[in-house]
Amino acid sequence: MQQSTIARRVACSGIGLHGGEKVELALCPAAAGTGIVFVSLDAARDGGDVEIRASAGAVLSTARATTLAAPITRSSPRHSLEGEADDCHRVKIATVEHLLATLFALEIDNVRVEVRGSEIPALDGSAAPFVECVRRAGRVRQNAARRELAVAEPFEIRDGDRWIRIEPAGALRISYAIDFSHPCIGRQSIEIPSLDESVFERELAAARTFGFAHEVEALRNAGLARGGNFDNTVVLDETKVLNDGGSRWPDEFVRHKVIDLLGDLALLGASLHAHIQVEKGGHRLHHRLIRALVERPELLVVRDRGRSMELDPGSVPARALARS
Ligand SMILES: [Zn+2]
Repeated sequence: MQQSTIARRVACSGIGLHGGEKVELALCPAAAGTGIVFVSLDAARDGGDVEIRASAGAVLSTARATTLAAPITRSSPRHSLEGEADDCHRVKIATVEHLLATLFALEIDNVRVEVRGSEIPALDGSAAPFVECVRRAGRVRQNAARRELAVAEPFEIRDGDRWIRIEPAGALRISYAIDFSHPCIGRQSIEIPSLDESVFERELAAARTFGFAHEVEALRNAGLARGGNFDNTVVLDETKVLNDGGSRWPDEFVRHKVIDLLGDLALLGASLHAHIQVEKGGHRLHHRLIRALVERPELLVVRDRGRSMELDPGSVPARALARS
């Protein structure tokens, strides 16, 4: 299986869900082996080094969304956060997960994501507008093998009544359950036996972010949800969905959680063959799994080693490869 990029540059704009600022975004073709790289045009204007490669090591925060960051430096093109930098010297891109989920599910390996602003636009709160963007850009196969990871042994993380488990499988299978004491949600579960782009587009992509009206004030005080509105979030009060038109599926909520999971799995920088089961998950739990996979390379194996596959030292596939 070969790597892919998009055929041409495509742009879109909108407001950030959490920051509430206007954001301009462009997806640009990138060479094989690039991965997904976010480029902050604001930091570039100031003359800094402004690339953040989508990877587990770039995760700054998982509070309500996934935020990536990298130190601004003029000398070295790629840094993990190991060196730490204060906020003045760090470039951040927030709420990357719905775009990353789309690129992951549509098997687009290499893209430069140019961002003017510090957050990916919320658009309608789902991944569907990003799917439309990628379709508009077209796809180009590249002369390099895809990175494919499989799971060597089952592994589980528990946090009270929440847990996430990964085990060997021939395809990417997802079983996700949530449980909210709300009359519109309750317990919802979804089973995706084999994720591919048509399943993503048909069953998941249009599921929107959701939030509760009673949380809005606290979230805004914490600097979150400032761009949230009925056009980009399913909002619930104590008893019902407040948006005109209601929800897109009765179980839109758990479908959206799967989008979030896929966006977080994209940080592995490879396709994944595994069965992932999640009970009452969220970004924090997803990232605990991803961090464990990065720190314990014995859990993963590289299935398909193409001759021209380039691996970053220290990345998951590189370490798994070094071991095998
Ligand atoms: Zn989300």
